[in-house]
Amino acid sequence: MKEYLTHPIFGIIADIAKKEGLETYVIGGYVRDLLLRRQSKDIDIVTVGSGIELAQKVAKAIGPRVRVSIFRNFGTAMLRYGDDEIEFVGARKESYMRNSRNPIVENGTLEDDQNRRDFTINALAISLNESDFGTLIDPFNGLTDMEEGIIRTPLDPIITFSDDPLRMMRAIRFATQLKFDIWDETFEAICANKGRIKIISRERIIDEMNKIIMSSKPSIGFKLLDQSGLLEIIFPELCRLKGRDVVQGIGHKDNFYHTLEVLDRITYSTDNLWLRWAALLHDIAKPMTKRFSSESGWTFHSHNFMGAKMIPGIFRQLKLPLNEKMKYVQKLVDLHMRPIVLSEEEVTDSAVRRLLFDAGDDIDDLMTLCEADITSKNSEKVNRYMNNFQLVRQKLKEIEEKDAIRNFQPPVDGDVIMKTFNLTPGREIGIIKTYIKDSILDGKIRNDFKEAFQLMLEKGKELGLIAVLSIEDF
Ligand code: ATP
Ligand code: MG
Repeated sequence: MKEYLTHPIFGIIADIAKKEGLETYVIGGYVRDLLLRRQSKDIDIVTVGSGIELAQKVAKAIGPRVRVSIFRNFGTAMLRYGDDEIEFVGARKESYMRNSRNPIVENGTLEDDQNRRDFTINALAISLNESDFGTLIDPFNGLTDMEEGIIRTPLDPIITFSDDPLRMMRAIRFATQLKFDIWDETFEAICANKGRIKIISRERIIDEMNKIIMSSKPSIGFKLLDQSGLLEIIFPELCRLKGRDVVQGIGHKDNFYHTLEVLDRITYSTDNLWLRWAALLHDIAKPMTKRFSSESGWTFHSHNFMGAKMIPGIFRQLKLPLNEKMKYVQKLVDLHMRPIVLSEEEVTDSAVRRLLFDAGDDIDDLMTLCEADITSKNSEKVNRYMNNFQLVRQKLKEIEEKDAIRNFQPPVDGDVIMKTFNLTPGREIGIIKTYIKDSILDGKIRNDFKEAFQLMLEKGKELGLIAVLSIEDF
């Protein structure tokens, strides 16, 4: 494997290891990614001895200004070399107690260290020792599993997953990222241990879920999460989308598989994690809004609105950030039906202005979501929608160029209204503001101070207000 060790750090480490008489290897994810030719930024070095001391010596050899970050609790040390993070750890042996994912750690051999790794493909090591530099040490046939595309634990999977249940999420995440299959016995052990996921913090779970969402085909991961029973525990709202009811011979689509298709489709258009989350959540309220009537068949009235209302609870539960990212997802879920409705009718300027006003700078992301949402098997229907969306996009562009609605602030604000009519804050101000905004969005007046001022005077009069200032006073 010598030909793989092109990174200059390996030579430096090998020299020091030789001088110090330390057995040293590159191990784990970096070796896996090297062999799979995947981009990888963190390099893990394991040494039979002190990882921290080795790191300090390597840093010194690289140059005087290289800083080592030391994590004494974990017995690890990290330094940066160019863009890469090099992590050093002493070989260790781990044993687990039943109620914690934190193991009891002792010093160990390379073999002990490989035994504690989660999957055969993650247990590969390459020697940096002078005697056998570049030799692959592969006690569990990880190389074969890599060639055959298999995720499998090195030791008894029941014990491996029970020891550290996060590994169940990792198995499914790797299966998704690498498009590998999980070995039957390994998958059965996930099913058997699913309840153990409860001892894992939600932050770690969501980290893995986000990696699934950021992969090129997230549906693989969500289907595995579902089949294993993990999804029901970690994200029950998504499970509720499953199933298809038929009444009087009329069925509706299975919203779980539809959602996964939308999520897969949106990966072609965006790497924005939050837009992908919006795709995952866009129909989340369909189960609770589902109704059947003989006249209209299945309906999901207001599922967009109810969905938006569910987002904060879901974000809190999953420990996703409760900040502007959440608001963004909420907004997209809320608005996701608007472009479709728009494209089904005649695309009027007024409807386009309102959409621009409500979506603001997120209008392009909203259109991306809506395009991904068209999953019909009927290609004629798909084409019709896509063409209509083209039209909507064109119209959005024209109107934005003409009227600049995206970041539109009504030209007459509350302050002007109060001064003109000598008012203190009260409901009339809101009424007048809304009236002006609506008139502009409906195209009754232009987005212009003079016209808005005139309209304000008219509306004020209607409300019985008396103007004490005129336009010249502003
Ligand atoms: P990625 O970097 O894509 O998240 P990775 O496999 O490199 O994947 P890291 O967290 O960087 O994951 O861990 C590096 C290595 O440490 C893994 O390849 C594996 O050998 C080991 N490892 C990480 N987490 C666990 C775990 N929960 N149980 C056992 N071994 C683990
Ligand atoms: Mg890694």
